[in-house]
Amino acid sequence: MTPGLPGSAAQAALRGARNRCPSCGQNALFLKFLKPVSRCRSCDQDWTHQQADDFPAYLAILLTGHILAPLIIALVNHTSLPVWGLMILIISFALAMMLAMLQPAKGAIIAIQWWLGMHGFEKPPRPEANPHPEAD
Ligand SMILES: [Zn+2]
Repeated sequence: MTPGLPGSAAQAALRGARNRCPSCGQNALFLKFLKPVSRCRSCDQDWTHQQADDFPAYLAILLTGHILAPLIIALVNHTSLPVWGLMILIISFALAMMLAMLQPAKGAIIAIQWWLGMHGFEKPPRPEANPHPEAD
């Protein structure tokens, strides 16, 4: 196995979500907010095959809705804020959460696409099962 390769899809996705190259974990995955680098400067992995499209936005909307729903219910039931105050608060939270989740969601999706060998990515080698687990 090539040194630096992730051991699982979850590890690759976590690297991508943290703006690290999913392959080596050394350099940034994104050049700009949602613009991935063409190639990693460390491992030379080509990231131009990624096709995350709208999926990061759908994922961010799904997560924001599920996280905000209980907060909205609590705000409505346990505060005496006027409707316009609630609207400003809820819309501000929703926009902040959406913006905060877009890049991590796109990084994780690119990493999963790479791990699965989708869209022209070459599937990375998988870690081999350790024949001597007691030796660790
Ligand atoms: Zn890399």
